[in-house]
Amino acid sequence: MLEARTAVKNLHAYRPPLAGRQGLRLDFNESTIGCSPRLLARLRSLDAETLARYPEREPVEREVADFLGLDVAQVLLTNGVDEAIHLLCSTYLEPGDEALIVVPTFAMYAIFAQAEGARVVQILAGENFACPWESVLARINQRTRLIAVANPNNPTGSAVACEVLLQVALAAPQAAVLVDEAYFEFHGETILNHSGRPSNLFVARTFSKAYGLAGLRIGILVGDAAQMAMVRRVASPYNVNAVALAALPEALRDQEYVEHYVAEVRSGRELLEQELRTLGLHYWPSRANFVLVRVGPDYGEFIQALRSRGILVRDRNSDPGCEGCVRLTVGSLEHTRTLIGALREVVVKVRDHREVKA
Ligand code: PMP
Repeated sequence: MLEARTAVKNLHAYRPPLAGRQGLRLDFNESTIGCSPRLLARLRSLDAETLARYPEREPVEREVADFLGLDVAQVLLTNGVDEAIHLLCSTYLEPGDEALIVVPTFAMYAIFAQAEGARVVQILAGENFACPWESVLARINQRTRLIAVANPNNPTGSAVACEVLLQVALAAPQAAVLVDEAYFEFHGETILNHSGRPSNLFVARTFSKAYGLAGLRIGILVGDAAQMAMVRRVASPYNVNAVALAALPEALRDQEYVEHYVAEVRSGRELLEQELRTLGLHYWPSRANFVLVRVGPDYGEFIQALRSRGILVRDRNSDPGCEGCVRLTVGSLEHTRTLIGALREVVVKVRDHREVKA
């Protein structure tokens, strides 16, 4: 009988709650307003010829490399950051190798590492989800072949200094160190600006968040040219589709649109954090387009009450150290104001209900 590899049989199926997402989508850290009108116009102009051809990634990779001030040999376009993670795991992990992650964090690092038969070493974040760097350094050994860090991190929104990440990469030259900058635009700091990046350091970016293109599936993986030549061997030559490739240059050219959205998210994040303080809800200051809030034992009721007001938010109760926590995406200012209005009602409702029960 045909059987999947043991590593695959041991994996838990990961099914993000995508069904029935009607309303204001503050559950997946997507853009709440979508991509720029210029980009939509470009998509509408596509012809049958574009779709008939196999897509050519390299000319677009060159534009992305220019945009980032890098050599094209350092850049690979991917089917979202998800694929970048998958490719790194396939390129570097052998069964029995160790992958280090600091939890709570983005789920796909552990999933793709486990699928290769690697052992995932989870290190619990410190107080207030601070990165426990001494523990990370202490856990590095010869079997450590992947270290993945989201910066800023999801679901906590916390960021770590680039100097610390460089120190980790230097301490583990036998490991691929991935700095996942999916939320870079909302944070504004990048390790790409640091000269002397070691050759085992990789950086990932996405067009799913600030650019409003989660549905197109486009990400960027950056690394040392010789290492990227290895990663490229594992990737399909057609991993990024023609529609995404046609849209990407226009997305890069319309920076004004992205900057405007990012500015709205940043001021909305401040408004939301201020409101959470007023409402007496504990939250963790965020550098990304979402805020993690500790609602407490009534988190389920809280999520349902928001849903009944047409607002979708994400239950993070099962993440390590996140008991009773809910993650709220910060969208446009208008959408954040809608969220704040609903939060005022919902917090009162949940508290009243709690008092009645008590
Ligand atoms: N990295 C992090 C830290 C994320 O939070 C997400 C999306 N939730 C991704 C990567 C996935 O990005 P993409 O859509 O480019 O695959």
